[in-house]
Amino acid sequence: MMQEVCCSTIETEILPMNPKTAQGKKAKPTRLSAYKAKRNLKTSPEPPAKIGKKKGASLAFVVQEHHAKHLHYDLRLEVKGVLKSWAIPKKPSMSSAIKRLAILVEDHPYEYKDFEGTIPSGYGAGTVTIWDSGTYSVDDLDARESENSVIRGLKKGAFHFSLHGKKLKGVFSLVRFKEEKNEWLLIKKKKD
Ligand code: MN
Repeated sequence: MMQEVCCSTIETEILPMNPKTAQGKKAKPTRLSAYKAKRNLKTSPEPPAKIGKKKGASLAFVVQEHHAKHLHYDLRLEVKGVLKSWAIPKKPSMSSAIKRLAILVEDHPYEYKDFEGTIPSGYGAGTVTIWDSGTYSVDDLDARESENSVIRGLKKGAFHFSLHGKKLKGVFSLVRFKEEKNEWLLIKKKKD
């Protein structure tokens, strides 16, 4: 039996970002402000809020199995030095008949793709392991064009990409269906 996941835990992960630092001073918002605001990075083993500078030939993806209050899977796609992230309450599927709810959450630092460990308390408390990882691309586009395609898709509310992982392989799409709740669906494309 699949555990039914109540969304309250996941929704707490998509609270609007706090523009203030821990000291209460106004900080210049960056793409990782929300990431930083949600965590105590002094006590959490999670990576610092740094934007990656890597200019690799390929783009990374990871799915992390996160045993938080409710088990979920975090899909992350490298886009311009950060990881665009979705929390997926049920295990991603290679079946095109199964659509998975995927909740868009805050951008994570590039380094998060290698993170495994136990978040001791507070936001996301629980153990994170890498469930699948590899590279992704969009059609025959190079890395820069693939990232741009994802950025356009995030605005538009629909895009596709090919995952080259160990468990997840082939074309997937993400389609937004409830914008105000950041709810998307992850769907595996049928093989041609
Ligand atoms: Mn998570």
